[in-house]
Amino acid sequence: MTQLHPETYREAARKAIGDPVLQKALAGLQARFGRGAAEAYRRLPEGPHLRHTAHEIRERAVAHLDVLLERLAEKIRQNGGHVFFASDATDAVEYCIKVARRHGVRRVVKGKSMVTEEIDLNEKLAAAGIDAVETDLGEYIIQLAGEKPSHIIAPAIHKTRYDIAELFVKNMGIPYTTDPPALTRAARKALREEFLAADMGISGVNMACAETGHITTVSNEGNIRMATTLPRIHMAFMGMERIVGRLDEYEILLRLLCRGAAAQTMATYVSYTAGPRRPEDSDGPEAFHLVVIDNGRSRILADPRFREILYCIRCAACLNVCPVYGKIGGHAYGFAYSGPIGAVVTPLLTGINRARHLCQGETLCGACMEACPVAIDLPRMLLALRETLAYGDAFWKTTPANPLEGLAFKVWSRLTANRRTWECFLKAAALGQRLFPKKGNRLRRLPPPFHGWTRKRDFPSLAPETFLARWRKNEIEVAKDIP
Ligand code: SF4
Repeated sequence: MTQLHPETYREAARKAIGDPVLQKALAGLQARFGRGAAEAYRRLPEGPHLRHTAHEIRERAVAHLDVLLERLAEKIRQNGGHVFFASDATDAVEYCIKVARRHGVRRVVKGKSMVTEEIDLNEKLAAAGIDAVETDLGEYIIQLAGEKPSHIIAPAIHKTRYDIAELFVKNMGIPYTTDPPALTRAARKALREEFLAADMGISGVNMACAETGHITTVSNEGNIRMATTLPRIHMAFMGMERIVGRLDEYEILLRLLCRGAAAQTMATYVSYTAGPRRPEDSDGPEAFHLVVIDNGRSRILADPRFREILYCIRCAACLNVCPVYGKIGGHAYGFAYSGPIGAVVTPLLTGINRARHLCQGETLCGACMEACPVAIDLPRMLLALRETLAYGDAFWKTTPANPLEGLAFKVWSRLTANRRTWECFLKAAALGQRLFPKKGNRLRRLPPPFHGWTRKRDFPSLAPETFLARWRKNEIEVAKDIP
């Protein structure tokens, strides 16, 4: 469920920071995957610079989305598949339910797909009387717990094996065990029956290729391959930006995706699908449907300030290095996407005012950009979002979050634009700060509206004399000493 509210965010963040088990899990995740990805980029035969090549590939693809998507659709239709362009979540869900009803589908197995989380597909299928079972182990666990993923590729990172043991005892009736291989075997057994009983398999799309007309899914568990080949129908959902033009570009992105996501050279299972089963094939679905989802992406595409976010390949590398995600975890973000990618894309998809706390909560440290396999400038877009919140923005129908903020920045820019005014301001501020409690050279408390800063930390006090004033004085002294 979408829970986008500044207070919910703060509350969830507070709770996460106070949870020692979660803190340990997040630290472990970041130590393993965050550092691992950087090392994996260094080991690339072409060197880490390949990330910039990937950036250019994504830039080209996003600039030609209309042509590429038509080419992909044409090829899939030639192969006997169906392609549906959904303008929003409702459109996509209705199409899925319509196809399911036409084919008498009662049970669905799903491979992990963030775009189906974005459109709340499971809940809507359940309301239509169709059971959808997640088959990725992490997703399966959180589905049993009635929760949402807390990480893009490690959705159950917040669960311990003790939590999982209790869930499995309650839901599967197995004897209590906390042994990970035993728990995995139990899940595998339960899921095997689901795969065999399902009428429809639903997957996401890691990447589509216009040149060849196929989609690719990657996984390390093999579950997506089973979900997409065993049931009679396969329906794949993709955000409309997840496409590239040529196969050689595709290969570069897949290599970077696996390195960014899990520091792997390549995922264990990489499946290519271009349509339903052909007469000569031994397995595969009788029908194949591809649902291409817009759901706000066209609006992003139309704005050059934010178009770059459509280059994202949802690898989660930015989550694995983000100091904010590393403390508050994924649930605090209140939507399908968490971490730096969530802080940028969620406000753009759901409303900048509504999700303003996400872009305001990030530190702008830049670690996400360094970790991103396609070198997306997330900090720039976080700042651009904050700008729309400071001044308002007609295109995004954003109203200023605080009317005083825009004014304050205008005054600040006047102050800093003129040296004389700036120096006068510094002198006055250096005198004025004497009114506030101090410890050493740090202020303990600032007055409103700056008091938020000193609620949890001190503020460095201004030096009694500016650097320039000291420099000038020094020059005079030196001049005096010159004979
Ligand atoms: S912004 Fe970059 S690092 Fe983050 S999920 Fe997208 S591609 Fe991966």
